[in-house]
Amino acid sequence: MTVTADEELTALGAVGRTPCLVIDVEVAGEQYRRIASAFADAEIHYAVKANPEPALLRALVEAGCRFDVASRTEIDLCLAAGASPADLSYGHPIKKPGDIAYAYARGVRLFAFDSAGELDKIVTHAPGSAVICRLLASSDGARWPLSRKFGCTGEMAVDLMKAAAVCGLDPAGLAFHVGSQQLDPGRWEPSVALAADIFRTLEQSGLSPRILNAGGGFPVDYRVSALPIAAYSVAIHAALFRHFGHRAPKLMIEPGRYIAAPAGVLHAEVVLVSKKSYSDESRWVYLDVGRFGGLAETEDEAIQYALATAHDDGPTGPVILAGPTCDSVDIMYQHAHYELPLALRAGDVVRILGTGAYTATYASVGFNGFPPLRTLTNP
Ligand SMILES: *Cc1c(COP(=O)(O)O)cnc(C)c1O
Repeated sequence: MTVTADEELTALGAVGRTPCLVIDVEVAGEQYRRIASAFADAEIHYAVKANPEPALLRALVEAGCRFDVASRTEIDLCLAAGASPADLSYGHPIKKPGDIAYAYARGVRLFAFDSAGELDKIVTHAPGSAVICRLLASSDGARWPLSRKFGCTGEMAVDLMKAAAVCGLDPAGLAFHVGSQQLDPGRWEPSVALAADIFRTLEQSGLSPRILNAGGGFPVDYRVSALPIAAYSVAIHAALFRHFGHRAPKLMIEPGRYIAAPAGVLHAEVVLVSKKSYSDESRWVYLDVGRFGGLAETEDEAIQYALATAHDDGPTGPVILAGPTCDSVDIMYQHAHYELPLALRAGDVVRILGTGAYTATYASVGFNGFPPLRTLTNP
């Protein structure tokens, strides 16, 4: 590195203002180009909830990226960044009627759903739109699973797609999501196979679905490196060929973490280094950022960020890494065998690397663009 962390913070006017997340939008652009070239045949929709920073969205618009949105705020952010409504996919399968109408009024014409109730809302508030039915998928192998909340079975998807056609919607295709930070390239195949079955059934009924949205989940390097993105592209394309043959659908993917995570470095200050007894081997290192300030994905030590300090050349020893709040769950790592330099002192900066995704949004009071909880008091 040519600039030190301290010089970078000085340049940003951020000295003494930790914790802060520094985003390098060029890195996000490079990540987009990397995944776009690995998936040259796919439409890439960036999942905005990973990091909705306007400068990052503008860089992605310029690079030719499309977007996956889940709320009014995310739609507004993408349009303000210069995206065209035709490049937005409303990928959240569960929406309020007013939010569907809002999206439709702004030109969004592609909506996800996974139930009859949601289909009714889309028919009413976004008539004639293209719809994509989300399938249940396993999150096995994902460091941050999200399987059970969204999706329906294949049997139900067949009926819902037929119903969509009857209602005058365009039953464009199917979607699934294999969980975030999915390390196993083989995890996409079961859903590709299921989708191929459903496509065949629908084609026999005279429908012509054409899009397969293979979701996000593409992993990045944290403390442990992930396989290169090409490994995921090869596995997914092999699965497409195995199950669709030469009649592969248009592929769509929705990377969030892959694009945003490597673009961010979270600068935190050491508040205290201490021990609880004279015989403890591990030091406790308390930072000014924790589970409630953006490091939510350290729950169960699921996502293990790499750390850097100014003392990294010297000897290290085991630490328990904790956040600043008075809540005892605000501990990031106690079982994952983290080590930090013995020279580390209160006031030092710890850089938490690869923190561009799911940090600022989880810390904010408006995750995924949903407004914060209002507090009212009795008059
Ligand atoms: C969150 C989300 C993504 C992005 O997932 P990553 O693991 O960050 O790539 C993609 N699609 C949908 C529908 C999502 O909700």
